[in-house]
Amino acid sequence: MKIIDLLNDETLSLSFEVFPPKTESAFDSVKEATEEIAKLRPSFMSVTYGAGGGTSQYTLNICKNIKELYNVPSLAHLTCVSSNRETVHEKIKAIQAAGIENVMALRGDIPAHLLDADRSDWAYHHAIELVRELKESGADFCIGGACYPEIHPESPDQKSDIQHLKEKVDAGCEFLTTQMFFDNNLLYNFLYKIRQAGILVPIVPGIMPITNANQVERAITLSGSFMPQRFKSLVDKFGNDPDAMKQAGIAYATDQIIDLYANGISHVHVYSMNKPDVARQIQANLSDILGK
Ligand code: FAD
Repeated sequence: MKIIDLLNDETLSLSFEVFPPKTESAFDSVKEATEEIAKLRPSFMSVTYGAGGGTSQYTLNICKNIKELYNVPSLAHLTCVSSNRETVHEKIKAIQAAGIENVMALRGDIPAHLLDADRSDWAYHHAIELVRELKESGADFCIGGACYPEIHPESPDQKSDIQHLKEKVDAGCEFLTTQMFFDNNLLYNFLYKIRQAGILVPIVPGIMPITNANQVERAITLSGSFMPQRFKSLVDKFGNDPDAMKQAGIAYATDQIIDLYANGISHVHVYSMNKPDVARQIQANLSDILGK
């Protein structure tokens, strides 16, 4: 099933994200965790793509597994910036051959040691080039892309970030999933600006439940997200008590999701990070809202 068809339906729904193992020895435990999440019957599951592509086979295997065993639509992430064209074309063919209909077209982060490198001979510079190649491949993919309510960290300003986002959508992105954020007002403000700029595709807010204090710094470093005082107080109070922090983090994420639903968003994506217990608890907290 194509994700755009789910997103065009205004029934409230939830999807979950998982990431592939880094090594073959971890494959079975990740597979088990993803299957536990698939059993919750989310509207779809996305599977991330390891930076540099070394774990791409696992991404595809997990996507196939979720789709074939649990009949849950899967979204395969694919990055391009560290790859050559031949490799990307092979990956696109493999995704098509596996029967995966949905692809998240991403640039990928530029490795730290290449940040100042001469980029003139790189095969890919931006996600839009991957979007175009997916369209040109002849496969009938539903293509998603990433967007950043708090601006992509490399963008000089929000205006140019939104302009590039518009170009990516015009090239064929049918929906956009947001970077994590912890203050819904940032999302509402972003939505207003992108709609004004003529970006009309469905936007799927991405919510990250922070369930331990160590995650906080990593999440902020990776995403550059603003931490509201309300969230900081919660980490200050419960950060040293793992069970309390987990419960408070899940409650905070649930609260964000309920507010999004209440303000007209029908579909929310949860960065569930291979944690079935977290996915299960969030879904249970929303059981009457989702009718599950
Ligand atoms: P782009 O759309 O190319 O944007 C990157 C930057 O380039 C932005 O500042 C944009 O404004 C600018 N830009 C775009 N086009 C142009 C242009 N023509 N000229 C000048 N500037 C331009 N990473 C992974 O490695 N694996 C994953 O699975 C993964 N999944 C993700 C899922 C989501 C929902 C999100 C939000 C991020 C994910 N990432 C993943 C991280 C992502 O790869 C990084 O954030 C990366 O730095 C940017 O990727 P992008 O696809 O948004 O890039």
